[in-house]
Amino acid sequence: MSAEPKKAHNFIQSLIEDAVVKGAHTGTVVTRFPPEPNGYLHVGHAKAICLNFGIANTFGGECNLRFDDTNPEKESQEYINAIKADVEWLGYQWQGKVHFASDYFDALYNFAEELIERGHAYVCALSADEMADFRGSLKEPGRNSPYRERAVEENLKLFGQMRDGDFQNGEMVLRAKIDMASPNINMRDPILYRIRYAEHHQTGNKWCIYPMYDFTHPISDALEGITHSLCTLEFEDHRPLYDWVLDNISVPCHPRQIEFARLNLNYTITSKRKLKRLVDEHIVDGWDDPRMPTISGLRRRGYTPESLRTFCDMIGVNKAGGTVDVGMLEFAIREDLNIRSPRAMCVMRPLKVTLTNYPADKTETLVLPVHPQNPDMGSREVTWSQTLFIDREDFVLEAPRKWKRLAPDQAVRMRGGYVMTCREIIRDQSGEIVELKCEYDENTLGVNPEGYKPNGVIHWVSATDSVECDINMYDRLFNAETPDSDKEGDMLDHLNSQSLVVLKGARVERNLALPASDLPYQFEREGYFFFDQKLTENAGKPVFNRTVTLRDSWGK
Ligand code: ATP
Ligand code: MG
Repeated sequence: MSAEPKKAHNFIQSLIEDAVVKGAHTGTVVTRFPPEPNGYLHVGHAKAICLNFGIANTFGGECNLRFDDTNPEKESQEYINAIKADVEWLGYQWQGKVHFASDYFDALYNFAEELIERGHAYVCALSADEMADFRGSLKEPGRNSPYRERAVEENLKLFGQMRDGDFQNGEMVLRAKIDMASPNINMRDPILYRIRYAEHHQTGNKWCIYPMYDFTHPISDALEGITHSLCTLEFEDHRPLYDWVLDNISVPCHPRQIEFARLNLNYTITSKRKLKRLVDEHIVDGWDDPRMPTISGLRRRGYTPESLRTFCDMIGVNKAGGTVDVGMLEFAIREDLNIRSPRAMCVMRPLKVTLTNYPADKTETLVLPVHPQNPDMGSREVTWSQTLFIDREDFVLEAPRKWKRLAPDQAVRMRGGYVMTCREIIRDQSGEIVELKCEYDENTLGVNPEGYKPNGVIHWVSATDSVECDINMYDRLFNAETPDSDKEGDMLDHLNSQSLVVLKGARVERNLALPASDLPYQFEREGYFFFDQKLTENAGKPVFNRTVTLRDSWGK
């Protein structure tokens, strides 16, 4: 297991520490991360990954990766591969081989028989509607199924026939025999196995019956020797069933289930099912669209594993639910990139500048630091020449008070270069400004000019030493804080129409045509931008994704 150990204490860590001190827990701490391969992992899963691997790390224990694969119709190998890649990218390595709940299908079948033999399970032929009716409600107890008192022998035979394909989908189920009057509806004879004629990505057509989560999960945990089974709060009401299953069969150990609050982030959704809808309806460009809160989307956006781990530390682990401000996630990546990102200049909306007093055939190489606060990161070269580009937004005809950029007859410092003064404005036939004629001051490289003061510092690139690129300006995918909350409305009603604005024809320093950095760059004065390999190949020119702005300016 790699990645740095967790510093902050959470309640689960304290609880295990207590148990160790009191002698109630001895031996290795073993946890697991148990995703269902029915979609790509999202930032909520990052919390569960950091927690499970973090707890194992803290106690010198182990963490398994187990695919909870009991719904073959919704699952696929693509998802399995993506999930493994995401866990590794986050910086964690699971113990030994990857596990699958389907590895235990034979064992689970035998445990189901054991329950039947002990009189704790029966084959029931009620239809789904009847079963719902018999289940009762929160206010009313349920009623016993007419099939509840079948003899053990008959149950064993029918269960065998279910497995052998003698029945149709939905004709029979295997149910636990617990208590139809229990105040906890999960304990009212829950289904353990159902018939599904579906090919499974791991077991092919071997099975036409598949076990339910509540039966599969505790047994998989016990067979792997998991000591602490950490799951989200919605499973709290399932804990009695988790314990009931393990108490009524012969398993090697009885793991302890502990629940914690899910991560909810505002302005986004953290549900694989809903994210899948965005993919299927082509609202986004796949699971790894940089606007998706998936781990693969965040990676393509330019998020680092370090920033996601920091974020998970920041939000902590709680019993109480709540919503985290997405600004915290942005804070975490900004902090990380501010320290580590190489700097570069990119002109988003180029406006041509001609230096009237600089020879056409001359160039100079200027040496700029890769990171102004970190000399260890070295230096980079940019070229000064007669034709330069600045950003259109850095020039105005009439400068407001305290204008820190360029205006007619005013001077600015070009970042890392000379001071220049604007002397003439060239327009095209439609009247649009297409060029500025400026004079540079040859005595101002690295020193202040004599007798006048430049307005401020702006970024630039030279015509000869820059390449055209496209910039994807990403913003939040949704305008609403909780896009999926209203019962009647649709989350798609809350899409932010400006979540992707493509800037074509930006110009970036030439040495970024094939960037050497695997981190986003800080484009000075603009934000952090990450090279997109996939889009670059399609566009035939570099494409950069905006990871995050320099400052939190959302809604301002
Ligand atoms: P989804 O609804 O997005 O499909 P899930 O809980 O069904 O989520 P699983 O693949 O079953 O997804 O999740 C694997 C593990 O990750 C589980 O232990 C689950 O509790 C945890 N997990 C899922 N979503 C979150 C979240 N938003 N915050 C924290 N943990 C989560
Ligand atoms: Mg699930």
